[in-house]
Amino acid sequence: MEIQVTERPSNHGAKSQNPKKVIIHAMGEYILIDKSQEKSFKTLGKDLPAGTYHASEFLERIGLSAHYLQEPNGSFIKTRLTIQGAFHAKGFNSDSIGIEVLVKGVWSYINFEQLMKSDKDWVTDLQYKTLPILCNGIIDYFSMKEGSFYRHSDLSPERKFDPGHGFHWEKFKGQLVWK
Ligand SMILES: [Zn+2]
Repeated sequence: MEIQVTERPSNHGAKSQNPKKVIIHAMGEYILIDKSQEKSFKTLGKDLPAGTYHASEFLERIGLSAHYLQEPNGSFIKTRLTIQGAFHAKGFNSDSIGIEVLVKGVWSYINFEQLMKSDKDWVTDLQYKTLPILCNGIIDYFSMKEGSFYRHSDLSPERKFDPGHGFHWEKFKGQLVWK
């Protein structure tokens, strides 16, 4: 199966890196920003008027990035080269590849946090199918060893809940092929 990748370059991240691990995240496909969030982003110097943003647009506007974003239909948006850093996981931004698995629909911050703490299945069959294809390519290319894949919540358990219980970690990892 071929995977579909669309490039949408972002400037947010270190110029170069030698990735040692892959970090799996989740975020809404579309992010809903209300007036009070607009205000708090403004105090941080970020221009984010109340409204709905595609995940890639949201990250771009707040100065963050991930190497890949995976759409619910299984296709990918590539925003950084894997040999460049990206701003996706505090403390790991210059030695890891970040992949955001997008949850279909429009999500407010609160609704999304509830989803991440729930057991609700949200990963699509197409996402379960194409994510391992992309990841096996990364494993091959960088000769990664077993144990180099993490959930964001594994690395920052007190701050981060993504990708949550709805992302079946063992099912995903069972599809990875190690040398
Ligand atoms: Zn994350």
